[in-house]
This record gives sequence, structure tokens and C-alpha cells, in this order.
Amino acid sequence: MSISVVMPTYARTDVMFDHGEGAWLCTVDGRRFLDFGAGVAVTALGHAHPHLVEVLKTQAGKLWHCSNLYRIPGQERLAQRLVDHSFADTAFFCNSGAEAMECALKVARRFHQANGAKDKYRVITARGAFHGRTLATIAAGGQAKHLDGFAPAVDGFDQVAFGNLNEARAAITAQTAAVVVEPVQGEGGIIPADAAYLKGLRAMADEFGLLLIFDEVQSGMGRTGKLFAHQWSDVTPDVMALAKGLGGGFPIGACLATERVGEVMTPGSHGSTFGGNPLATAAGNAVLDVMLAPGFLDHVNAMAGLLWSKLEHVVKKHGGIFEQVRGQGLMLGLKCKVPNGDVVARLFANGLLVVGAGDNVVRLVPPLIIGESEIDAAAAIIDLAAGQLAAAAK
Ligand SMILES: *Cc1c(COP(=O)(O)O)cnc(C)c1O
Repeated sequence: MSISVVMPTYARTDVMFDHGEGAWLCTVDGRRFLDFGAGVAVTALGHAHPHLVEVLKTQAGKLWHCSNLYRIPGQERLAQRLVDHSFADTAFFCNSGAEAMECALKVARRFHQANGAKDKYRVITARGAFHGRTLATIAAGGQAKHLDGFAPAVDGFDQVAFGNLNEARAAITAQTAAVVVEPVQGEGGIIPADAAYLKGLRAMADEFGLLLIFDEVQSGMGRTGKLFAHQWSDVTPDVMALAKGLGGGFPIGACLATERVGEVMTPGSHGSTFGGNPLATAAGNAVLDVMLAPGFLDHVNAMAGLLWSKLEHVVKKHGGIFEQVRGQGLMLGLKCKVPNGDVVARLFANGLLVVGAGDNVVRLVPPLIIGESEIDAAAAIIDLAAGQLAAAAK
């Protein structure tokens, strides 16, 4: 037998990490890496954050799991805090981003069906989007590489160009239930939606009775310097999906909704065995303890400004390797002129972990607790790696 015991769905880099501390990861053989990938924008507070460790240890000694057949105090507290700091009135907890989006899509269908529009089920999505790997969310994302081999695709998604309001309006039919967008496209290549586009989508949704769904699985939880990326605009959605940073590395997702929409999710309509259990919501509450503390988002914005200016400098210096810096907050992308995989590998060889993204982009999504010296170190490595790539190309 030649198949790996772990199903070979990932082309993995041959490295194993043993432990982490803040923005650093240490391998089993003692090498140190600066972590600007953060497990793909997950470990928002870095590794082994003392407050998260303490809260999880305490909760682990009390109660790990409790069914949603019963009330869960930590879940109620986390829901209340998310509601208090967002447009939403209610939250459903699950275990991943795909599940959070799956819930959002189910909410959209049920909202219209509960309101007598039985044939409204179609959802307008954006090209380049990523919403997860379940059957519905790969259909929503619409990317051929994710759909390959999994036909037939779940019906009900109409894809239009990201950022193009006219195309979105033209795609509306009598069957359209909702429009879904990432306020900053992540996997698609770190592409922020501008405020006017989000505003236009809100107006369009209101005019045609559609739900506006934001997928903030990657852009949410402080990543862009606001708790949620859409808060940079004055637009609010009806439904929002969260995950990645929400548990600081513990698997937890959430689907938030307004009362008008969320009230259709009556007992028995949806569920999750693990979703929002005591251990997961303890992690989520510990993350919020840190993120909601005064000055936390100011720090994110200060570090984001610093990283941006350092990257601009590197891009100017290495015009043969990089084309552009883009993104928002600490969700930044370097658009490359050479294959982004080569850049990721070169950075890895020099001790910096980053993640590739679509549109030939290298994604920089460091932990939000990052400091100036780590930004300096990362910028120096990017500069060095770009120099090496340029020299090798000669
Ligand atoms: C990562 C991601 C998802 C999927 O999250 P999983 O936890 O892998 O299921 C969905 N939407 C966006 C925007 C993401 O970045």
C-alpha cells in the first residue's frame, strides 16, 4: 500500500512543529519559524497565549462537552458578546467556517420559505470567492478546482464578478434569495471590497427583498483592525459567518443573524452535536477577553500600518518579483510577478511562514499580537528572499 495513512488531500511541506510561542513556531528538530500564516488566519492571538491557555486549562478540568439539549453558560455569554458588538441579535455555533456558511445558506432559504416564497432559493456569489469545502459551499465558491470530481454541484448559485454591482443586479431573478460576499476576499487573493460596493449590495438587497450575507470567516475577529471588516463601511448584513480567529486555534464557527431573519430558525430546524460546547466557547470567550480590551484594535491598526509601509518598500525595491501590496489591516497580500509558490518556498527556506492565495498572491496574516521587532524581522526576510529569487532568475 502506498497511500499515506492521512488521506492525501494536502500537498504538505515536509516540516513538523512541536510548539509555539506568540508569533513563533518551533519544529520537532529545533528550528524556529516566524509565523505570518497563523494556521491560515486562525491563531489570531499567536501560539500559547497565556490567557487562552489558562482559560482552557480551567475549563478542561470542569466540563468539555455538553449537548445543546441543555443550556450552556459559556455559549450564552459568547453569543451575548458577539451580539453586543455586531449588527446581530442571535448566533448559532458550529465548528468551522464551512459549517457557518452552510448555516447562513440554510437561513437564507428558510427565511424566504417561512415567508411564503417557496421558490426563492438561489444565491448570488462572487467569482474568486471561497466559502468552504462542503457540497453546498464548494458550489457557492464556484471554483472549478474545488468542484472537480464532485458533480453534480449543489444547485442554486449564480456567480458574478466580485466588485461589479451591475452584474449582481443583472443576476437577480424571481428565485433569488440572497447575495453572499466576503468583505475582503481571502483565498481569492486578498481583495478588499470597497465601501461603495458593499453599500450598493445593501441597497440592492433591500430593493429586491434579498438577504445580504457576509462571509467574515477570514476577515472577521479583528483581522482588518475592526472586529469585523464590514465595520469599515457603514453597511451591515442580515447574516454573517465567522470562524477562523474566533477560537484562536480552537475549532469554532458561528452564524450571526438579525432577529427578523434568525427567528425562522425554530427548534429542530438546524443543529450541531459539538457546536458551541463548553470547551469551544471558553476559547471563544477568552479570545474576546483579549480582543475587546481597550487598545487591542489600535495595536492591530498600528502594526498593520507599519507592515504595510515595510511591504511597500520591499515591493518598490524588488519590482521584478512583486507587483503590489494589497489588503486591509493584518490581512495583507503581495501580488507576485514570479510564481507565488516559489516565493512561499523561498520565505520558508529563510524562516518565514506565509500562505499562498489565488491571483498569484502571497498572503501575510500574522497573529494580531505581532510586535514591531517581528514585523522588522519578517520584512527583512522578505527582502532577502526576493533578492535571492531575483539573483536566481539571472
Ligand atoms: C477558511 C474559509 C472558509 C472555510 O472555513 P473552514 O473552517 O475551513 O470550513 C469559509 N469562508 C472563508 C472566507 C474562509 O476564509
